[in-house]
Amino acid sequence: MLCNSRNSLILAIIIAMKLENEDALDRYVICRKCHTLHEEIPIRDGTKACCSECGGVLYKYDSRLAEHGLALSVSGLILFILANIFPLVQIEILGHEQFITIPKTILSLFESGFYLVGLICAFLIFVFPLMIFLIYSILFVLLKLKRGEKTIKELLVLLSRILPWSMSDIFFVSILVALVKLIGYAQIHIGVSFWALIGFVVLDLYITKNLHIYEIWMLRKRTFFKERKNDRD
Ligand SMILES: [Zn+2]
Repeated sequence: MLCNSRNSLILAIIIAMKLENEDALDRYVICRKCHTLHEEIPIRDGTKACCSECGGVLYKYDSRLAEHGLALSVSGLILFILANIFPLVQIEILGHEQFITIPKTILSLFESGFYLVGLICAFLIFVFPLMIFLIYSILFVLLKLKRGEKTIKELLVLLSRILPWSMSDIFFVSILVALVKLIGYAQIHIGVSFWALIGFVVLDLYITKNLHIYEIWMLRKRTFFKERKNDRD
């Protein structure tokens, strides 16, 4: 393991000495499991390249990634909007009815004086999930149009920073726990937003598991490399 790390370090130094600019780094891929450095080679559609040391997946090639990604991210945005404009649940206690929506839940925290908690919740369950799906949609539209190479790079960096802060799945679990505790004390009617939120959380988990940032980074490289090659020809 130590030997492997030392080899990688030596290889990294040799490559750094040969590099003329930062973009030349794009030719190399680091294994996320064992950090071994590999030179990227072209692979066929639907196949994946694996690490020679640990066998972990280095990168995959899916020629329909932009189409699939765009369909998933736009569906996620629609579900997110539906989850936020309609009531999540309707709670009836002693003849008194109350509709609960996501924005109303955040606002009630501010009205109760919990400003810091309200602000954190607003970012974790509203701002960050919305930003993530908006960024995904913009990224795939730009990749389909083959425009905005620099913008795509900046959006991918921003996406990698905010991805760990999306907590809509935790929010959904906390709603379930609250509803289970309320059964027996109140009548609960599930609203449209509840089903939209389930759909959104499932999509969010699917994208997190199957759509990695490095795949979009590789797609960007392939897309603009082909463009530059066509321009030269
Ligand atoms: Zn490896």
